[in-house]
Formats: sequence, C-alpha cells, structure tokens
Amino acid sequence: MTVILDGKKLRDKIFADLKSKLDKMPVKPTLAVVLVGDDPASQIYVNNKKKTAESLGINSVVIKYPSNISENELLSKVKELNSDKNITAILVQLPLPEHIDKFKIIDAISPEKDVDGLTPYNSGKLFTGEKPYVYPCTPKGILLLLDEYGIEVEGKHVVVIGRSNLVGKPVAQMLLNRNATVTVCHSKTKNLADITKTADILISAVGKNVVGEKYIKNNCVVVDVGIFRDNEGKIRGDVEFENVSKLASYISPVPGGVGPMTIASLMLNTVELAEGTKALRQ
Ligand code: NAP
Repeated sequence: MTVILDGKKLRDKIFADLKSKLDKMPVKPTLAVVLVGDDPASQIYVNNKKKTAESLGINSVVIKYPSNISENELLSKVKELNSDKNITAILVQLPLPEHIDKFKIIDAISPEKDVDGLTPYNSGKLFTGEKPYVYPCTPKGILLLLDEYGIEVEGKHVVVIGRSNLVGKPVAQMLLNRNATVTVCHSKTKNLADITKTADILISAVGKNVVGEKYIKNNCVVVDVGIFRDNEGKIRGDVEFENVSKLASYISPVPGGVGPMTIASLMLNTVELAEGTKALRQ
C-alpha cells in the first residue's frame, strides 16, 4: 500500500515541540524578513512567515521596500540587521528586482543569522561536509520528512530533478553527505525518464508537470517539491499524483507535503540560530 508523506502532520508535531521550547526561552528569537517590491506571491509568503512565527512565540519584523530601492540601500539595511543584537535571524525574500544582484545581498548576511542557509559560508560548509549554522529550509524539510517515515537513503539511488541553489543542489549534496548515490537532472538532461526509472527515491523540484507513471519504477519513494497553478488556477505539483501513487511506495502530495515542511524548517532554523542547536541528524 502506498504511504502518503504527510508534511502537515509532521509540521504540526514540530510546531508543538517548538512552542513548548519557546515558552521556556527567556529571550525569544527575532526573525527579520526583508521584502522588496510588491510581488503578490512574495507578500503572501512573507505574511505567512510572520504569522506563523508569532503564533509560536518568535518575534518577527518585516521590513518592506519599494522595488526601486538601490542595491546599496539594501546592502546597508542587511549590514544594520547583522549588527543589531535584537535580531537573531535574517531572511531576504527572493526574488529581488533585476537591478539588484541577489548574490551580493545574500553574501552580505552574517552566516550566523542566515536562516535560509544560503550564504557562501553556509553552503560552502554543506558542500565540504562540515556543519553549516543551518541547512536550507526546503532540503532540510525533505530530509526531516524522509527521516520521519524511516526512509533510509544510504546506498540508495536518489534522482533529483532540478538544480537550483534553493532546492536541487543543496538537497543533492545533503543526500550525498548521507551516502546516497545521487544523480541530478535538469532542463538539458536527455532521456529523463530512462534516468528517473532507475531511482529508488525521486525528488522533483521543477515547477512543471514533468513526472508521469512512465518516469518511475515500482516501489519508488516520490517527493514532489514543485508548486504551480494549472490553467484552471488549481495548485499542482510536478508529479501526476493519481497515476504515480499507484506505483510508489511513499509519495508526498501537493499541497500538504514539502510545502508545510519548508515553513517548519524555517521556524526550526530560527530557533536553532538563537540557541545553537540542530534538529536534523548530521
Ligand atoms: P528553479 O530555480 O526555477 O529551478 C527549476 C529547475 O528545474 C531548474 O534546474 C531547471 O533546469 C529544471 N527544469 C526546468 N524544466 C525542466 C524539465 N522539463 N525537465 C527537467 N528539469 C527541468 O526553481 P526552484 O526554486 O528550484 O523551485 C522548483 C519548484 O519547487 C517550483 O515549482 C517552486 O515553486 C517549488 N518550490 C516549492 C517549495 C515548497 O516549499 N514546496 C520551496 C521551494 C520551491 P535548468 O537549471 O537547466 O534551467
């Protein structure tokens, strides 16, 4: 029987634990979120982050700028947040307007306040197999979900579709650090189905409907990271859930799979930065 990887259930469990931990913390962590421009999706994400943080007892500050803010002004703000002792975690909501070099902005965040784990320091630590301050939220959420269901990755062939700095590359590296054999595919990959059909675990992070039943072998573990709206405005993942779930041993739904785990990881990271702990097994 196919098991659903229930991200909502695990998120709620993580939140309950975090809440009782936060209730006992004499000084609460403070998450600063910087939002540039008026992209509606980014505004929703930022509001959700703020609401969720506050519901758990984490302080949160949202700093909003118009899309025409200069790169230097934004850099100055990041530096100010770095040296502000009341701020324990910093997140710059992506995407940024085109005139701003996102790498320059991310590079400027103090690694010990880098709640997304995206600075060169933290991603460098991840890639050398050392401990970063925190792991990037979505990859961390995926591994927490696999751990929760007792899915061992050592020695397994994991195929990751997508190679972004946010999801594909870090999740591939985290799995490699746990002794999986990892293949990373992308838009230029030829004969994608021939590769994905060899996967014991398939992680798809594309944002398009790419994974049908011909893409997986029997009993594969399928993790769907993608989120997009179809022509009817319905939220969809990369995977054709109906057909693929008949073959998979475990599968994450969209919504309700990786999405809730990303926000859970963000909250975990915020607390971990404030107290120097780690929820994820190394
Ligand atoms: P991204 O930066 O756009 O990366 C997409 C990746 O997919 C790229 O590496 C691209 O290849 C590859 N790709 C595109 N078309 C392909 C195809 N036909 N076959 C194989 N690979 C293809 O996106 P992202 O930030 O990684 O996010 C990916 C998806 O996950 C999006 O839907 C996003 O909304 C979702 N997401 C969800 C969560 C969550 O919490 N659930 C969190 C983050 C992201 P190239 O590199 O060659 O262009």
